[in-house]
Amino acid sequence: MDTYQIERKRMVEQQIARKGVHDERVLAAMMSVPRHLFLPVEARDYAYVDSPVQIGSGQTISQPYVVGLMTELLDVRDEHHVLDVGTGSGYQAALLGELAAEVHSIERHAELAESARERLTRLGYENVYVHVGDGTQGYPPHAPYDRIIVAAAAPSVPDPLLHQLAEDGRLVIPVGKRFSQLLEVWDRTGDDFHKSTSIPVVFVPLIGQEGWEG
Ligand code: SAM
Repeated sequence: MDTYQIERKRMVEQQIARKGVHDERVLAAMMSVPRHLFLPVEARDYAYVDSPVQIGSGQTISQPYVVGLMTELLDVRDEHHVLDVGTGSGYQAALLGELAAEVHSIERHAELAESARERLTRLGYENVYVHVGDGTQGYPPHAPYDRIIVAAAAPSVPDPLLHQLAEDGRLVIPVGKRFSQLLEVWDRTGDDFHKSTSIPVVFVPLIGQEGWEG
């Protein structure tokens, strides 16, 4: 094992599993995706610490535990078609690429999207597609999605995301105030939507037509 693998193993055991994420597929994906390669070179020493890290354009890669918890809550299966809103570094998209059949990831900052796309291609993620746009509108060309995950905080759940869920689809999204939110899990059964809530979180704002003003 190289140093990064040792640090990654420690992250998975001490920050993710110990705090209650037990889904074996999620833990295996977090063990296999090289998180340090999703950070700017000067920030790689912080890749496996228990906090968010700056990735440029004023944005962050989320805290590993929150990524693990959200991915577990999403309950992704092999055959799923997934939408990831807020590509950022592309790390969450890579994890989803390990777990699902196909992933569409959308980012509003073109430069972040471009570097995430290059990184994911270099690392061989052929089932992950990065798009530039306002993810509060979802991504209609490939809807419906079995699963949708949002890595930025919304003032309320965007309707287009609920309506781009497939039958039996699930959406995981932080919703609340600008600087404090709750993780919400929305399940669709036919035309019915059921919401449950998980832990308090703090995410950067989801900026767009159905989000916050930029
Ligand atoms: N999932 C990312 C990762 O693994 O690195 C971290 C995402 S970061 C916490 C939130 C991202 O959401 C930022 O890159 C931000 O630019 C993006 N974002 C905010 N509003 C958005 C919108 N309406 N559509 C798409 N992306 C948005």
